[in-house]
Amino acid sequence: MRLVPGATIGILGAGQLGRMLAMAAARLGLKSHVFAPDADAPAFDVAAAKTVAAYEDEAALARFAEAVDVVTYEFENVPIACAEFLSERRPLRPNARALALTQDRLPEKTFLQDIGLETAPFLAIEDAGALIRAVASLGRPSILKTRRFGYDGKGQALVREGSDLAALFRGLGTEPTILEGFVRFEREISIIAARNLDGDFAAYDLCENEHERHILARTRVPAAVQPATEAAARDIARQVIEALDYVGVLAVELFLVRDYDGAERLIVNEVAPRVHNSGHWTIEGALTSQFEQHVRAIAGWPLGATTRLGAIEMRNLIGEEAANWPDILAQPELRLHLYGKVEARPGRKMGHVTRIRPGS
Ligand code: AMP
Repeated sequence: MRLVPGATIGILGAGQLGRMLAMAAARLGLKSHVFAPDADAPAFDVAAAKTVAAYEDEAALARFAEAVDVVTYEFENVPIACAEFLSERRPLRPNARALALTQDRLPEKTFLQDIGLETAPFLAIEDAGALIRAVASLGRPSILKTRRFGYDGKGQALVREGSDLAALFRGLGTEPTILEGFVRFEREISIIAARNLDGDFAAYDLCENEHERHILARTRVPAAVQPATEAAARDIARQVIEALDYVGVLAVELFLVRDYDGAERLIVNEVAPRVHNSGHWTIEGALTSQFEQHVRAIAGWPLGATTRLGAIEMRNLIGEEAANWPDILAQPELRLHLYGKVEARPGRKMGHVTRIRPGS
């Protein structure tokens, strides 16, 4: 089903990604109806319609489905029951399988290996005894991660020499976990790609990402990688997208490792079934932003060109950093984005700044 201008996109989740999706949709003459439980969230400011309700509220979900033409989501922790309920009533793009696979690290990594991609070695941990055996097998350092609801380094613990395994296991609570072998990566890279209803595929240039305290701090594009690495990343994104019969924008987070002979190799860290923080540079830095691309894809429209317009640096404004907005505005070459969040809690993404050096 293809949308026409004037149609309504239903967006699950009301964070900054939903906000930027709604703004891109509006530019193309589409309306957005945002559904989320927290009334005080960034996307509500820019949506034509809103529902403030729990993702388990079937009466509210049914009314939402009636009011929209297609449903999408801006975060991967949408409850599967909610996604399935909506997909019985309206097209859900991307599909519920993409959600189910990417919201749990165990099926996600298993899927990636099944389609022939390299991930960090991993083992499922059911109890403290399994952790001891897994550490014996994967070595130290290694990383214990909750299977679900991990983001920005939350739900992770580094297993070092001398770490008390029983205490680490208890520290992550009763959540199911996996242990991952430690990847000695040189850099972190991501690729943002899209597929539309007709199966057309498009990818952006590779992004090079720097994290501070587990939160994305900076993205630089183009990533300084060998041409073969750029091609390998595109192949990875295409394989994931096709294996999931995916419609929309997707991000693949990758570790770049350097082999003893100097060759670069990519290891898949995780897949985000949505627009991604490392793709914010595309708003001013590419002919089509990742947000417009997602809207085009889920609307059943042709994809836009992903051509990059210069050398780009995107910096996140975390917590109090957003208080510098007057200084940023005073630098004419910087593009400021603020997400309209009232409270600048530490670690909270409040906005971002993009700098483009045209032409390179
Ligand atoms: P994640 O939540 O899985 O994206 O992990 C957050 C960050 O932790 C990553 O961006 C990496 O910097 C680091 N990290 C995660 N997994 C590994 C690993 N297996 N080896 C080394 N570093 C990792």
